[in-house]
Amino acid sequence: MKHENPHAGLVGSPTPAEFEDLSDAVEERRLREELGFGTLAEAAELYRPDPACPECGEGGARRDGASASGLQRWRCRACGTRFTSPTGTVLENCKKPLATWVSFIRPALFAAPLDACAEACRISHQTARGWRHRLFAAVEGYQDRIVLRGRVWVDEIYVDDVGLSKGGRPRRRGLSRDKLCIAVGIDARKEPVAVVCGHGKPSTARIRAALGGHVAEGATLVHDRERAHGVLVRENSLEDESYKADVRDPAYLEAMELVNNLCSWLKRYLWRFTGMDPENMQSYLDLYVYFFRVKRDDERWPKIARVVRHLVMTEARFRSST
Ligand SMILES: [Zn+2]
Repeated sequence: MKHENPHAGLVGSPTPAEFEDLSDAVEERRLREELGFGTLAEAAELYRPDPACPECGEGGARRDGASASGLQRWRCRACGTRFTSPTGTVLENCKKPLATWVSFIRPALFAAPLDACAEACRISHQTARGWRHRLFAAVEGYQDRIVLRGRVWVDEIYVDDVGLSKGGRPRRRGLSRDKLCIAVGIDARKEPVAVVCGHGKPSTARIRAALGGHVAEGATLVHDRERAHGVLVRENSLEDESYKADVRDPAYLEAMELVNNLCSWLKRYLWRFTGMDPENMQSYLDLYVYFFRVKRDDERWPKIARVVRHLVMTEARFRSST
């Protein structure tokens, strides 16, 4: 028996342009029902109700009408600058509806390749690249505040940045000077950090620079017997619990499971970005750590609402033309 959708006529009669508007309105409503806001204007009203002036930083701007797309316009009482709510955030001058951004973020949260994200929300590869740079800008420095406590596991992973930039999987070979070292840490609350730590095996100075600010005093450091970790034990007054690195030793594997898992997720994540500029490595890591925490806390803080809130609230500069 054929089921007739009684609303089929609604979508059959409009012109293509009208149909696009109708489709946007459907997405907008869907978003509003899921998250409590359907447009960027509504999200900004919720999360950025009193934006500081992008010129002089003064708060308390006066409401000054609305833009064609419905965004609140403001006028600074101190210097007279006029701006809209998303000015100074990564959503500034974004011509696509917020729903399109949300359908970009959903697969990005699960580390989908950029082309898949572009496909999922019907934007060009070029626009998707620009949006990824906007995401990078919104999470720049995000890890600075993260401090691991209690039991803290640390380790390093090495990626062949030549392999990453030329495409294909990093080749398997001995640890050499041209492998990029990434220092990784996680604690029992699953707070992660991942920081670029120079090339080849890390020195004491490089470990101090990468992780020194991320481990609370008095924590217990669980690690393999990498010598450079000693600087954390000494300078952050840590308890030292070390295991000889041996993947056939069940005691080692059990002790290091959390950090080993984080390392393998990270490696898998980085492998997807063939062709990435190694210069951007820290940005990729910041975004990974941000999304890791967003997914971890999803039950008490729904992930899409949290990311949109972050994008709307964070003042950031980005380099992009889209
Ligand atoms: Zn001002």
